[in-house]
Amino acid sequence: MAVDIAVLGATGSIGTQTLDVVRQCLPNVRVRVLTGYGNLPKLAELIREFKPDMVCVKDEGTTRELEGFNLGPNRPEVVSGDDGLVHCAAENRSSIVVNALTGKAGLAPTLAAIRAGKDIALANKESLVTAGALIMTEAKKKGVRVTPIDSEHSAIWQCLQGNEGNEIEKIILTASGGPFRTWPFEQIENATAKDALKHPNWFMGPKITIDSATLMNKGLEYIEALWLFGVKPEQVEIVVHPQSIIHSMVQFTDGSVMAQMGLPDMRLPILYALTAPKRVRNDFPRMDFLSHNTLTFEKPDEERFPCLALAKKAITMGGTAPAVMNAVNEWAVGQFLQGKIKFYDISAIINHALKEYTVKPLNRADDVWEAEKWAGELVETCQL
Ligand code: NDP
Ligand code: MG
Repeated sequence: MAVDIAVLGATGSIGTQTLDVVRQCLPNVRVRVLTGYGNLPKLAELIREFKPDMVCVKDEGTTRELEGFNLGPNRPEVVSGDDGLVHCAAENRSSIVVNALTGKAGLAPTLAAIRAGKDIALANKESLVTAGALIMTEAKKKGVRVTPIDSEHSAIWQCLQGNEGNEIEKIILTASGGPFRTWPFEQIENATAKDALKHPNWFMGPKITIDSATLMNKGLEYIEALWLFGVKPEQVEIVVHPQSIIHSMVQFTDGSVMAQMGLPDMRLPILYALTAPKRVRNDFPRMDFLSHNTLTFEKPDEERFPCLALAKKAITMGGTAPAVMNAVNEWAVGQFLQGKIKFYDISAIINHALKEYTVKPLNRADDVWEAEKWAGELVETCQL
């Protein structure tokens, strides 16, 4: 039976890998909706191949620009901007929405998809970080599945299969440690965006790659795990595992630990998010334990990587604090990528924001937008 999907953020790292999974493994999946932002050549190529009915781009200017590309014989409806994205998430052609958008732009489409009664394969961890309570409540109310694409959360979810009803004692969230794992503080202090973009194990979009270097990515994933699996903060332990072979683990109340392993290849969690509990045959490279014969573990260093402690602080503050942390982080990562601020300025400004902010309860999406607006005003006036 054919399954219709929408891929939001189709031109990015997760988006293109999702389409690769569809191309290689899922002949019955039809791609009805695609969204890009600024990368029009890539989007045009995808439109020619997948022939979607609807696409979304950045704004009216990019809509006109897209007309200049060869889109093939089937011209899709073109919408744009934040409203266009929400429309693409909620339209009635697709039954599964893959959210591979980066940053805070992902939340409104996540909520729109859930409210429209669609299952959502979620790569956009920022949605859960900023509004996990709303998302999980709405998903339950609508009876839709929120399946994780993030490799760690996919691993945890896979470890839980067949263990429904068994209590989790602890989740062990693994982290590669990023490109600066072995660098001393003084060297990290002067690291450039170019240094930070050299991730040892994964090739990802620029924002998450910087988040991996600061360990904010693990902080975001820590919050993501709390919402997805309904555990308490003290039940999640973060362990640095530089080989990225064990994608995460679950310890049950009898002390038994389940781990999910594999080569670092995002196509596996993407495929599983679309087909679980069914496993689909593929020819992706296989794990060879004789050539990966050393698995090591370390404690994360919250002094050299203060973002990890800041994320824990934000979730402890609760309410809209994680939304402020996330928005300030996104701004700071953008500044660092442009060479305008230094590596430790990222954590310094998040720390400053969390100190200045008075937490509000999180009852509706508007509470998140207000917190993000506050964060936007703070960074405007901030002197580094
Ligand atoms: P990329 O930067 O590679 O891709 C982002 C996508 O979103 C692109 O299609 C981009 O369009 C589009 N986009 C960017 N900004 C906006 C905006 N303001 N409005 C609408 N669309 C926008 O990101 P990744 O694929 O690396 O990451 C996507 C999400 O998945 C993130 O939340 C990340 O944390 C998560 N994730 C990623 C992993 C990875 O391996 N990459 C692993 C685990 C999680 P365009 O390119 O056309 O400008
Ligand atoms: Mg991850």
